[in-house]
Amino acid sequence: MSLSLIAKSIKPSPTLALNEKFAILKEKGDPVIHLGGGEPKTRVPMEAIMATVAHVNTGEVRYAPADGIPALKQAIIRYTEEFYDRKVTPQHIIASSGAKQALMVALQAILNPQEEVIFPAPYWVSYPDMARLIGAIPVPALPEDGTFYPRLKDIEDRVGSYTKAIIINSPNNPTGAMYSEEFISDVVQFCEKKDIWLIMDDIYHRLIFEGRKPINPLKYAKKQDENSKLIIVNGVSKQYAMTGFRIGWAVGNKKVIAAMSNIQGHQTSGPSVLLQKAAVGALNGIQSSVEALRITLENNRNVMIALLNSFEGVKVTKPDGTFYCFADFSVYNKSSNALSAFLIDKVQVLTVPGVEFGLEGYLRLSYCGSIKDIQDGIERMKWALDPNSPNELYIGDRKLVRDWS
Ligand code: PMP
Repeated sequence: MSLSLIAKSIKPSPTLALNEKFAILKEKGDPVIHLGGGEPKTRVPMEAIMATVAHVNTGEVRYAPADGIPALKQAIIRYTEEFYDRKVTPQHIIASSGAKQALMVALQAILNPQEEVIFPAPYWVSYPDMARLIGAIPVPALPEDGTFYPRLKDIEDRVGSYTKAIIINSPNNPTGAMYSEEFISDVVQFCEKKDIWLIMDDIYHRLIFEGRKPINPLKYAKKQDENSKLIIVNGVSKQYAMTGFRIGWAVGNKKVIAAMSNIQGHQTSGPSVLLQKAAVGALNGIQSSVEALRITLENNRNVMIALLNSFEGVKVTKPDGTFYCFADFSVYNKSSNALSAFLIDKVQVLTVPGVEFGLEGYLRLSYCGSIKDIQDGIERMKWALDPNSPNELYIGDRKLVRDWS
């Protein structure tokens, strides 16, 4: 079949594929545990639900403006003032169908085919394919010192005449590493000096632990408003547990936002007005659910880290935020795809192979589910991988017998 070169260059999203796998196994009644997920399980804020229902009840659900409804823009203006100490206008904002779309239209607005976008590795699975979707070149930058904390030099070394943009995601999916204030300030100043676009993917910026405070990259920006090439991306998916509502946004200079709005207008039009209303409800409502989620995640992280630390041979870096832990399982198998498939096959635990995030030998384990899933999931993994485990394991009344060494 004569598909386009771009279509042929794109892989399916491994995390979405895993969610489908989970649904199929669950439907079959298998006792599967999903440690590969990317969404909190807490309830959506009541204000979000009420706002959606109120709008549905009007019986008039129409097209929304391509760049977002005024009420959502007002809520984002307030959010930007609170977390970024910057007064912006509606023309500096676009609301999209998820942070994913906001990132995609930002890349479409700034990158030409063959131009390069750099991002630290391990990276979120979608960045390379988003770049490929526009014929641009993804350039991952793995920190040279073997940590999950890049230094400016790691980025600088990869900058060339084709470099058009840098994406920074902190705290990071998949490692949970929150980059230092110094690194963020270095990158902001470097991009200004080199006239490179900087996209801050701040989707997890409030889900951070041990008293850390969200970092404001705009604090280090000297170029203001129309000369600024800094774009901030955020959304309601993670912090308000509203993944299914598909509302994200970007804040940037007026010209780039206008270009992004044009692109989005032709792609999908504005996000559904119902879901935008829900986002307004969440952003303007009582904020206690965000803190409750943050505390739950910190507790879950502690449980997962303690269990992994007692797992012989597995190397763990304690995540500073998010709901992911990226652990080195290479003693058990150098191929993370093979290891992940083995764990599904033998003990029905779903994990995401590290190679999908640009680092082989690792697995991404999520702690956004229940403590029971974390405990049972890691126990099963240990049983499957440790050659000294007993021969049998019971999952409910199912007996598993080791037929491998
Ligand atoms: N950026 C990162 C780093 C993510 O992990 C995700 C979701 N997995 C997104 C963006 C997209 O989020 P949304 O649901 O708002 O599209």
